[in-house]
Amino acid sequence: MQIPEKLLQSLAGIKGFNKETFEQIHQSGEQVTSVRFNPKKVSSMVNGEWSINNNIQHSPLAIHQKIPWSSQGYYLKERPSFTFDPSFHAGSYYVQEASSMFLEEVLKQTTDLTKPLRVLDLCAAPGGKSTLIQSLISIESLLVSNEVIKSRANILEENIIKWGATNVVITNNDPKDFSRVENYFDVIVIDAPCSGSGLFRKEPEAINEWSEENVNLCNQRQQRIIADVWNSLKQDGILIYSTCSFSQKEDEDILDWIGDEFSVDSLQLAINKDWNIVETNSSKKNYFGYRFYPDKLKGEGFFIAALQKKRWRSFFLSKNKKTNNGKNNQQRNRINKTMD
Ligand code: SAM
Repeated sequence: MQIPEKLLQSLAGIKGFNKETFEQIHQSGEQVTSVRFNPKKVSSMVNGEWSINNNIQHSPLAIHQKIPWSSQGYYLKERPSFTFDPSFHAGSYYVQEASSMFLEEVLKQTTDLTKPLRVLDLCAAPGGKSTLIQSLISIESLLVSNEVIKSRANILEENIIKWGATNVVITNNDPKDFSRVENYFDVIVIDAPCSGSGLFRKEPEAINEWSEENVNLCNQRQQRIIADVWNSLKQDGILIYSTCSFSQKEDEDILDWIGDEFSVDSLQLAINKDWNIVETNSSKKNYFGYRFYPDKLKGEGFFIAALQKKRWRSFFLSKNKKTNNGKNNQQRNRINKTMD
């Protein structure tokens, strides 16, 4: 597998990037398969047996290890033929790449999940993040799971139906349609379409589609998507932005762009050191981002960050949140000092 030289050059100097081990892991041929159980259907998993819909049965999955940042995620020893497994079609589990499951931690650390929430998963097909979000929110909460491409929205619908949720609405809209729903969502997840370098190990054919021009196009599209839905995020609401690209232009630079365009705080997450997730800072605003490198952990390339839409009142309310917003943080500290 030949990683594009231009990509390698663009990653030089980015925190956590090690050219040698990065190339080695891509050449190793190693494949990681992981699944996330549906807690409504699978209640325990012990010694090759699982309790599925309250019946103890032999599990068709060869479980290897728990995924450390996920409550329901497991690595498998080998990749079975999922299509021959009835429990797969019944929505007992979702085959999901391990790094992506970190969304659970981001939600838990930034949002009170016990509250009734309105969550928008804007780029949702085929449904990995949506099924995860659905398992975490309360039954009083609403998840709007949106996909702009009709054929992909159909697959999303199938997967959500299999998952068996009653608090999910599936929509097939362009992001700009949401701008009319002002100040509505508590959380918006944007798992943005991207140049896909994080998935080269899993999908080597994606290498042929990679180019610097495409990275630039993705950067422009990502900005457009965020701008289109910004109005629909509540004040104090949380924006979770992720990609499966290693390119700074699609990751940290997008955070800087958001900071230039809108009034936000960047949220820092508590990360267990053993997980080997790399915390980065955007070059202009120092906003926090989290990078997943396949040569550092058992998962594919992934980037995720959480931002909070600011309002004046939030200066006084968010004292207990760790944020990084340069000048605004100093301003808040000054305000907090005068309040104390
Ligand atoms: N979140 C999904 C999951 O976890 O299963 C994966 C989403 S994938 C990274 C990005 C999605 O964005 C794709 O389904 C793609 O069809 C959609 N997309 C492509 N162009 C878009 C656009 N201009 N606006 C919104 N979504 C777009």
